[in-house]
Amino acid sequence: PLPTVAIIGRPNVGKSTLFNRLVGKRLALVDDRPGVTRDRREGEAHLLGLEFRIIDTAGFEDEDPQSLPGRMRTQTEAAVREADVALFIVDARAGVTPLDEEIARWLRSADAPVVLAANKAEGRAGEAGAIEAMALGFGDPVLISAEHGEGVADLFEALLPWI
Ligand code: GDP
Ligand code: MG
Repeated sequence: PLPTVAIIGRPNVGKSTLFNRLVGKRLALVDDRPGVTRDRREGEAHLLGLEFRIIDTAGFEDEDPQSLPGRMRTQTEAAVREADVALFIVDARAGVTPLDEEIARWLRSADAPVVLAANKAEGRAGEAGAIEAMALGFGDPVLISAEHGEGVADLFEALLPWI
């Protein structure tokens, strides 16, 4: 069976955009409004010759934003459990939010292998956010732009040890 990567992160950071880029089909719904991806999507990802199963989660999007325990018990938990590595996406332009910090805490408590990526980093826009993201405790984030296809080689390198 193919190794599995679960894309994790709060709404609107670009999880589905990255999924679509890696899978190459429009299997995941992308929308400006947070919460649009209703279901978990799976596909076969291709990244510089590397092949793996990828899960686009929306588990932090559907439930009452005030109810953290509720959010944590969604499909996201299941996806991380069955994944070889969690690809934790933050928005390099927005910087770290309280929900990013909650997700980071939860990933740590789940003891999941984590690769941190700061998306929307095209054109050096994400440098401040990327520095901020180091405080999440998963090391230096990989700077990517899912929309523009930047940082692919760095993402490949970061995932390689786990898949
Ligand atoms: P999700 O909620 O995490 O799945 O996020 P989406 O993939 O639905 O994307 C949310 C919004 O961010 C959309 O408007 C995307 O076009 C935009 N977006 C995604 N990736 C990038 C990127 O690399 N750069 C920029 N500037 N915007 C992006
Ligand atoms: Mg989505």
